[in-house]
Amino acid sequence: MLHVDIMDGHFVPNLSIGTPVVESIRKSTDLFLDVHLMVTDPMKYGEIFHKAGADGLTFHIEVTNEKASEVIKQYREFGCKKVGISLNPDTPASAIKDIINEIDLVLVMTVHPGFGGQSFIHECLPKIQEIRKMINNTTRDIDLEVDGGINEETVILAKEAGANVLVAGTAFFKADDRSKIIHILRS
Ligand code: ZN
Repeated sequence: MLHVDIMDGHFVPNLSIGTPVVESIRKSTDLFLDVHLMVTDPMKYGEIFHKAGADGLTFHIEVTNEKASEVIKQYREFGCKKVGISLNPDTPASAIKDIINEIDLVLVMTVHPGFGGQSFIHECLPKIQEIRKMINNTTRDIDLEVDGGINEETVILAKEAGANVLVAGTAFFKADDRSKIIHILRS
């Protein structure tokens, strides 16, 4: 799948890409578009990215807290195929316990969101293990995705902690042989 980071200049200081770029990506691939909304207002932006071609939409628990269920409901109503919730490195696993049965994906940030090229925060590993246990205690098919600092070494740690979807940015784009790095990360 293609993971697309959307930054609004509020939730994170950077601005990244908007709907025209997502529309362009949509036209050029049939791959699943996994859109990560690093925005303060996921109610406002979810549907426009859905219409732009996102298959999955993931928003942050830090900006919604008790309103997370309302966002999930809204995303389901406009037809989002996969709804995810993301946690910053400092946010505990317990923050999502009340909504774990409503979502399709948990995205654990292993760097502070907003910039590429940061190092994997190893202190997040126990949280990944904890969320894996929470997921296994549900009857739902929930992906556990890890985003930030994934490379040839950290991919193993994230996988062993229970992740089944790994996002690689810098490791892929800076690789001399991009096909090879995908193969290495998969294996
Ligand atoms: Zn992301």
